[in-house]
This record gives sequence, C-alpha cells and structure tokens, in this order.
Amino acid sequence: MKKSRVKRNKQKSFLFPLTALFTLAISIVFVLIVAGGTETIYELGQLNFIPDEKTVCIDPGHGGTSSGAVLDNRYEKDDTLALSLLVRDILTDRGYTVVMTRDDDSDVSLADRCKIANKARASLFVSIHRNSSSSPSATGVEMWVHSSNPTDDTLLAQNILDCFDTLDIMKNRGIYSGYRDGEDMNYYINRNTKMPSVLAEIGFISSKEDNKKYDENIDDYAKAIADGIEMTLKEMNGE
Ligand SMILES: [Zn+2]
Repeated sequence: MKKSRVKRNKQKSFLFPLTALFTLAISIVFVLIVAGGTETIYELGQLNFIPDEKTVCIDPGHGGTSSGAVLDNRYEKDDTLALSLLVRDILTDRGYTVVMTRDDDSDVSLADRCKIANKARASLFVSIHRNSSSSPSATGVEMWVHSSNPTDDTLLAQNILDCFDTLDIMKNRGIYSGYRDGEDMNYYINRNTKMPSVLAEIGFISSKEDNKKYDENIDDYAKAIADGIEMTLKEMNGE
C-alpha cells in the first residue's frame, strides 16, 4: 500500500514538468498566432530554418500572363528575367548554387516562389522588379524589406544599393519597408520567405531614361546585384 503510493507520487512528480512544458509550448504557439497575425509564417519560419550558405534564390518578378508594368511594347516580366539570368550566371561562376523561381516566361504564383526558395534552403532571396510611376520623371533604384526592418534583409538591401552607387548610373532612392499601398502590410515574398529577402526595383519602366540605362548597363546592374549578394553572405557568415 505504502509502496504503491510512493510510486504514484513519483509518477506525478515526473508528469508535472512535462505537463507544464506542454502547456508553455501551446501558450507560445497561441501567442505567436494571435499576436503575430499575418506575420506568423515569417516569425515562426525563422525558428527552425537552417539555410545553405552557398545557395541563393533569384526571383524574376512576374512572368507568363503576369506582365507586370508595361511601357509601349516593353514588359516588366522580360526585363526582370533578362537581368535575373545574368545575376544567376555571375553567381554560378563564383561557385554559388543559384535557385531560380523561373528561368523562362512562365506563370509562377507568389506562394510557389517562396516555396521554391524555402525548400532549397536558400540563404538569401532577391526578387527583381522594375518600378512604374504615372510621372515619367520618376527614376532610380529602390529596395523593399519587411516592415520589421530585419537586420540581414536591410544589410542585403544596403549592400546592393552601395554597389549600384559605385556604378554611379542611377539615382539611389533608398530602402523602404513594408508595402507601397499600405502601412501595416508587406510584400508577399518578404512575408513568406524564411531567409532574408529584398524586393529590388531596378529603375522605372515608365521612364525612357531609365530604360535606356537598363539596356546599356544591364551587365553592370547584374554585377552590382551579385556583388551585393556576395558581400551580404560573407558578412552574415562572419568572413
Ligand atoms: Zn513588379
């Protein structure tokens, strides 16, 4: 009788920390989901994600039926693909594994773009776009990061801008956080990729001046993006 009571007590004292731990874990998940709202995927994703330090993902904006911004017969989706392929080639030559979300004129959903990068365990994600404005005088390069201004994402954006500054071809419009059309929103790719990410607007397709520069300097633009990516990887890995 006495013996069995002791045994029961032992079981209880063993079960209590387990129950407490389980309750704590459930509470943390609950708080993250409720408090985090739409940011949950981003926040949780960082916890158990182990990136491959030699792998990066390049995302040519739009594609297929999604033309992106257009000026006359010029489509954003073609510009972004041409530049992205050049960035891929430079980084591949330097020994990196470059995962493309598309390498031809095909439709790829935003969700699939993020899945491709996450599955490949890319260390960095750069989404390449062209900007557009109703004002033809709007020109220059700008970067968009998540509204929480994550350190490595901002570092990546800054490094790419610094490399463009070295070229001295395009106006530097700086780093923006969040989403153009809403203060509390974020670009889908900045919200759903598990690695540091940047949406890069490489000049305005609505500007004839920017388009001319784009065509004449596309190799230099590709090198600036590749250099910015490589600098960031080295800094992140403490090299
Ligand atoms: Zn775009």
